[in-house]
Amino acid sequence: MRILVTGGAGFVGSHLCDRLLSDGHEVIAMDNLVTGSIDNISHLAGESRFQFVRHDVTQYIYVAGKLDAIMHLASPASPIDFTRIPIQILKVGSLGTHNALGLALGKGARFLLASTSEVYGDPQVHPQPESYWGHVNPIGVRGVYDEAKRFSEAITMAYHRIHGVDTRIIRIFNTYGPRMRLDDGRVVPNFIGQALRRQPITVYGDGSQTRSFCFVSDLVDGMVRLLLSDEVNPVNVGNPVETSILTFAETINRLTGNPAGIEFRPLPDDDPKQRRPDITRARDILGWSPTVELEVGLSRTIAYFEETLDR
Ligand code: NAD
Ligand code: UDP
Repeated sequence: MRILVTGGAGFVGSHLCDRLLSDGHEVIAMDNLVTGSIDNISHLAGESRFQFVRHDVTQYIYVAGKLDAIMHLASPASPIDFTRIPIQILKVGSLGTHNALGLALGKGARFLLASTSEVYGDPQVHPQPESYWGHVNPIGVRGVYDEAKRFSEAITMAYHRIHGVDTRIIRIFNTYGPRMRLDDGRVVPNFIGQALRRQPITVYGDGSQTRSFCFVSDLVDGMVRLLLSDEVNPVNVGNPVETSILTFAETINRLTGNPAGIEFRPLPDDDPKQRRPDITRARDILGWSPTVELEVGLSRTIAYFEETLDR
């Protein structure tokens, strides 16, 4: 297949490009580098089946030739970006998704939207099944991301219903691994960066809030399986092993041998108290379940950040 990956120079997007190329596909990565980096895809420079196009997808997207699929990942995803670049987030989720869907319609390409567990907001149903409609504060600081993704899902379904575009929606839960940015602000790079610098780990609130962390290779496998399936309704992909943020901080201090301990900071507004995917549909429909255990994935990620810090 010839596949366009928007957000292809980002953390998840670059791993997805690697996987699609190793499966034999031709890949065009499109990215404006607002939160991504050329370093994530520089190893693909000599690959004849790979092409990088620097472009902001909120502007009209032109791609020459046929496209079999569009995997639409372009969007900042870190809570620090929700306050730093909120309007870009709203624009890429709305205008960017509209442009990417228009391109899918024009090319007759299958379309996969990278949505998020944030559509569930601060959930009142636990764990979260796809049938849950969510609990989102539209005017809170996280609203820019949550509502942009909810709009993305709505317009994706509208293009499916009205224009017959062959669409997929993956709801991604917290994913981590090599190529996250050290200054990304999300919990995994923050904690590992602090631990490797022998600083105290900053736990927001009392650390009782929970998350469920999925290693990036597992996520990418779920994305590819969903693309190749014929499932139009949303599918959660994430690791259902849930941990409190305090326990997570202690694990990272132990794995890195960081003696500096933990420092507590105020909890950001609207920070979800608990999050764990119900992956029944991913198991049943895609035959997917995660394979990389947390400490194995964390060790690989710590090794990557050790190299990055050394450079
Ligand atoms: P990332 O920031 O590393 O990647 C996003 C990429 O999109 C970056 O390379 C960025 O430069 C690019 N981008 C942003 N706006 C753009 C625009 N207007 N035009 C072109 N490119 C643009 O983040 P990530 O973690 O790799 O996330 C990838 C996707 O997966 C996002 O859509 C995100 O919402 C979704 N997601 C990720 C997670 C996670 O835990 N990593 C969880 C849920 C959903
Ligand atoms: N968090 C923390 N310390 C940090 C960064 C994050 O305690 O230095 C917490 C954050 O408040 C949230 C969880 O870790 O409860 C996950 O945060 P992240 O930014 O990775 O993404 P989220 O899942 O909230 O979208």
